[in-house]
Amino acid sequence: MTSTAGSHGGRRRLLIATRSHHKLQELRALLGLDGFELVSLDDIGVEEEAVEDAASFRGNAIIKARFYGRLTGSPTLADDSGLEVDALGGRPGVRTRRYAGENATDAQNNAKLLAELEGVPPAERTARYRCVLAYFDPGWTASGGRRRVVTRAGTYEGRIAVVPRGSGGFGYDPIFEPATEPIGGRTVGQLSAAEKNRASHRGKAARAMARYLREAT
Ligand code: IMP
Repeated sequence: MTSTAGSHGGRRRLLIATRSHHKLQELRALLGLDGFELVSLDDIGVEEEAVEDAASFRGNAIIKARFYGRLTGSPTLADDSGLEVDALGGRPGVRTRRYAGENATDAQNNAKLLAELEGVPPAERTARYRCVLAYFDPGWTASGGRRRVVTRAGTYEGRIAVVPRGSGGFGYDPIFEPATEPIGGRTVGQLSAAEKNRASHRGKAARAMARYLREAT
């Protein structure tokens, strides 16, 4: 692992603590932080894994930001996100990525969710994506500061489609219809990246976090 502390060409380095290529791509576009050089865990050769055992998205985002920030010495931004389906009492929730098993593919997760909702009418298939971003700067504690992790959250309301449509985005996007679409309308998998980013859970959280990072750091 290479050290990530310090700045590069006058830009501050910000570690984006994810292994998801899709999350990274969306966050790069959304944050629009000219003053920061964004690097990922893989960019700097971090192999360690945080143990995400909290019961909430916020809890897991904080665990990841602290773990990777302390490990690398770099200011770190972590994303924890997932899907809550009302007809399933809020599941899969923090288990969204592993819904159909530890190493489940997106297609397996989507198939499991559709099977669980079989027979549930469209109007009762309401759901939302949630995203919590957590920022931690190891310098805060090293300098005796008492700052804790800073979090920003966003939600994206919608419903689970009856059949998958579209191949854009990632994860559950082919079966997630935003609330702004009519029943049976476009899924997020059928939206452009720009359309998704304008309305998404990650878009809302990232714009709020970018404001904080520009103004307060
Ligand atoms: P995490 O790595 O524990 O935060 O897992 C998040 C999981 O939630 C991802 O693997 C996806 O399955 C799902 N997810 C989060 N955000 C999105 C999104 O924007 N589109 C589709 N699926 C998402």
